Amino acid sequence: MQLLANRSSTGDLAIFGGTPAFGEPLHVGRPNIGERQRFLERMNDLLDRRWLTNQGPYVQEFERCIADRVGVRHCVATPNATVGLEIAIRALGLRGEVIVPSFTFIATAHVLQWLGITPVFCDVEPERLTLDPDAVEAQVGPRTTGILGVHLWGRPCDVERLSAIADCHHLRLLFDAAHAFGCSHNGQMVGSFGDAEVFSFHATKFCNAFEGGAIVTNDEDLARTLRLMHNFGFAGYDTVVGLGINGKMNEASAAMGLTSLESLDEFIAVNRRNYEQYRRELAGVRGLRVLPFSDSERQNYQYVAVDVDAVECGISRDDVAAVCWAENVLVRRYFFPGCHRMEPYRSSRPVREQVLPVTERAAEQMLTLPTGTAVGPSEVAAVCELLRFVVHRGPEISAALRKQAFDFQTFTNADAAPALAREGVLV
Ligand SMILES: *Cc1c(COP(=O)(O)O)cnc(C)c1O
Repeated sequence: MQLLANRSSTGDLAIFGGTPAFGEPLHVGRPNIGERQRFLERMNDLLDRRWLTNQGPYVQEFERCIADRVGVRHCVATPNATVGLEIAIRALGLRGEVIVPSFTFIATAHVLQWLGITPVFCDVEPERLTLDPDAVEAQVGPRTTGILGVHLWGRPCDVERLSAIADCHHLRLLFDAAHAFGCSHNGQMVGSFGDAEVFSFHATKFCNAFEGGAIVTNDEDLARTLRLMHNFGFAGYDTVVGLGINGKMNEASAAMGLTSLESLDEFIAVNRRNYEQYRRELAGVRGLRVLPFSDSERQNYQYVAVDVDAVECGISRDDVAAVCWAENVLVRRYFFPGCHRMEPYRSSRPVREQVLPVTERAAEQMLTLPTGTAVGPSEVAAVCELLRFVVHRGPEISAALRKQAFDFQTFTNADAAPALAREGVLV
């Protein structure tokens, strides 16, 4: 890594031909790996047992550990959060329309559409960037059967108001908690809110099972249905009592998940250290604001998101991202452009005409910075120094990029996509 202290002009930036600050790419969400030896021991055990899937001992242990940590009665492990959400949506009997934020990973909308349910996109609150309860209330119609909230970047939704709206209109309330494992809301762990919540243990999430998910709930009847549905509806060796699918986690994933859980406190400590350093070193940079986490709640500090105000910075978020990428700092534009601006939704009539002001502003301005156990204090310092330099010279860099007709989308798609796909970064 070459520190940028000696950069004196914008021409020294890699995007204008200088040497990149990092020889190797710095990622958002490079997988955290726990104790390798413990994982390998578990792999040996499961091979010796020849019990590779179908509710094996590691999956059972993983489900117990998740339920205990979260403080819920039931946990059903799934191959990923997407399948977990689909099973939960089916088990809850959702149909017609479901209210969902647009400012989220595309899976939240796709799971509904995939099941023949219309996602009704709703705007988010400006601070938390989670479902705006007033907007939700305004979207409830005769075909609405549920609300699917997202605890974006670990910041819980306004659970109380969403629950009240759901109760009042007899709607089901489900949470996509893919980002929020290990986070609390008013001192209560995420996982116990609404009818059910779904976690992701994908490789890029801070606690991973290679791929994995878990549906958690306190509702006993729902848990029974979820369990049947995630195993083809089997109630016994050759008794099928209803429609089901293959939604089982395998033993190797559970072995990785259990190993990750053992290092969870360390992962959180590293994320917290990185987040606090970013906050400290970017404080006072005009136009840049690192989204704060509440000090009174438990957090996983998994996503360091920064709001780039183009007017105050004199440079757009996309241009900042482009400069970073050229330096091998692979910041992400989560969640650009918002689900309602992606197919198949954006071509459908009501969605095409829909305006979601807070979502659209966030999609234009938010930038997610590299963190996780693969990122240390010297890397964070270098990224902060780069960002300070870029904002300081904002208008000058912006003008130079316009002269080159530089486009971030084209750059990432054409030049960087093959490398990203190889490294498993594109999810
Ligand atoms: C990652 C993610 C998902 C999908 O999780 P998988 O385990 O990869 O299926 C769903 N929703 C959100 C908000 C996510 O970030």
